[in-house]
Amino acid sequence: MTGREPAPAAMAGGRSGGRPLVQKYGGTSVATLARIRRVAQLVAGARRSAPGVVVVVSAMGETTDRLQAQAHRLHSRPPAREMDALLATGETVCAPLLAIALDARGVAAVSLSGLQAGIRTAPHHRRARIVDVVPQRILDELALGRVVVVAGFQGVVADTLETTTLGRGGSDTTAVALAAALRARACEIFTDVRGVYTADPRLVPDARRLDGIGYEEMLELAAVGAAVLHPRAVEIGAAHDVPIRVRSTFHPRDAGTLISREPPVEPRQKVRGIAHQEDVAKVTVVRVPDRPGVAAAIFTPLAEAGISVDAIVQNVGHDGLTDVSFTVAAADLDQVRELLPGIVSGVGADGASIDAAIAKVSVVGTGVLGSPGVAARMFRALAEAGINIEMIAASEIRITATVPAAQLADAVRALHRAYELETI
Ligand code: ASP
Ligand code: MG
Repeated sequence: MTGREPAPAAMAGGRSGGRPLVQKYGGTSVATLARIRRVAQLVAGARRSAPGVVVVVSAMGETTDRLQAQAHRLHSRPPAREMDALLATGETVCAPLLAIALDARGVAAVSLSGLQAGIRTAPHHRRARIVDVVPQRILDELALGRVVVVAGFQGVVADTLETTTLGRGGSDTTAVALAAALRARACEIFTDVRGVYTADPRLVPDARRLDGIGYEEMLELAAVGAAVLHPRAVEIGAAHDVPIRVRSTFHPRDAGTLISREPPVEPRQKVRGIAHQEDVAKVTVVRVPDRPGVAAAIFTPLAEAGISVDAIVQNVGHDGLTDVSFTVAAADLDQVRELLPGIVSGVGADGASIDAAIAKVSVVGTGVLGSPGVAARMFRALAEAGINIEMIAASEIRITATVPAAQLADAVRALHRAYELETI
């Protein structure tokens, strides 16, 4: 996204000039034609007050899941290149449908594919990173007074023109990357919830919506399970200072949550939210010789395959042997299974086991690790709820524990209560 961004002077995003607005509508918001019509109405409203509007759409409803399931019925490990070509079609369908709905309302609109919108990615399939945005076509269309509807989630490798996708939930990333390249006034993420909450409201009925949150805390929340926003989108927003507003398509008067560099100051609360992840698994490499270089030999092949690990624990060794455990995303398990035999023989371990019945719960807030008592309160609350912690991981601004999957909801509720998040 650097190097080729047009100068601000070129940003006259429409007839009246000024910075354009980027809006993104998620799959639930465009799940039916009636909802697409409703989105067209919201876009038309935004068009009246912004000098230019760029809309990024996801695929309709569960389209991406359905396409993925179809591929898996044909093949246990479908080729990544074909999966990208297949999954990108969901957004390819939705963008012109919205442009048609806008046209039907008398709003001039044009739909663009990821390629046409200048979304250029690294040459990797399934989880490609955006390396550059060349938004000239978008600027040209805005200058003609059109609303530009961009197919989210898809990109293209500049020299080969291969279609890539940005990873599940990647339309958020498209939207924020475009907002950065266009120096948009803001990026509004329209979704099916009213913003970012102190915990998942489906698990914690008295979870509170945050009016504002900083990039760092949001990044950490997103990375450990708050599914409202893709972590990569937050990263790009932070790097380019794009104000991101998460708001509900179904309650458009709600201001939602603003993610920005300087959130409105909230009173003294260190812990901002509780995030959780259900789709994780614990991998244990059993009876590893306890000598230098072993951890590197275990984690290097995983890193090279692009698999991130968390909550690494090396158990106390006996007889020069030790167990090494870590967590991975359930979505990476197939790949992990393929790599494990090589890892086990490479380090001379006895074997490896996988436990999918675990989940992760995280306490997130600026400075939590350095605040005396935050960790202790977390462990006490879980203990009092009768929940056994197996593994712990921490960063400056989060503490994560693994818990039995069956007790995840109890764990989230216990922590929300322990930090009195419902009352702040
Ligand atoms: N349609 C894609 C997915 O379901 C991308 C997105 O919705 O953001 O993951
Ligand atoms: Mg999403």
